Amino acid sequence: MIFLQPIGQVNDDILNFLKHSLSFLWPTEILPQVDIPKDTYNKNRGQHEGSALLDTLQVKGDAVLGVTEVDTYVEDLNFIFGLALGRKALISLKRLKPDLYGSPDDEELLKLRALNEAVHELGHVFGLTHCPNRRCVMHFSNSIWDTDIKDWRYCRSCLGGKPIDIVRSDK
Ligand SMILES: [Zn+2]
Ligand SMILES: [Zn+2]
Repeated sequence: MIFLQPIGQVNDDILNFLKHSLSFLWPTEILPQVDIPKDTYNKNRGQHEGSALLDTLQVKGDAVLGVTEVDTYVEDLNFIFGLALGRKALISLKRLKPDLYGSPDDEELLKLRALNEAVHELGHVFGLTHCPNRRCVMHFSNSIWDTDIKDWRYCRSCLGGKPIDIVRSDK
């Protein structure tokens, strides 16, 4: 079972879309929202530190995926789309929003990008590493353009030729 947990206020449509879509891969539920802790905010950068945000999540089921709308970073990176550590993962919607790139608001595109990043981070939780295939969801996204090229699914090589529902933790 995968649990989605909003960190701070998060668009309900996006959460419900993620729940619905991820349910094709794993049973998925939405947990109640947790608040964004004040001490995760870095004033100089105007961003929240990703691993500190992960700390706000409690491990539940096979994986907990935090979803937030605030901008996130980790040391040495300008920003991150997401992060995974152990059975916890996180995605930020901030840099996935089309209007940030001068495009018109497009909630369908935002949903697709969010799903892509969610499947990517959950792939890490289940032991997958980055994939050289640019079309594979496990390819590393340096920019939103990389994200948009990718399919939201794992490639055959990442799945080891197995059907998708084999990608689960043993826990
Ligand atoms: Zn990654
Ligand atoms: Zn792959």
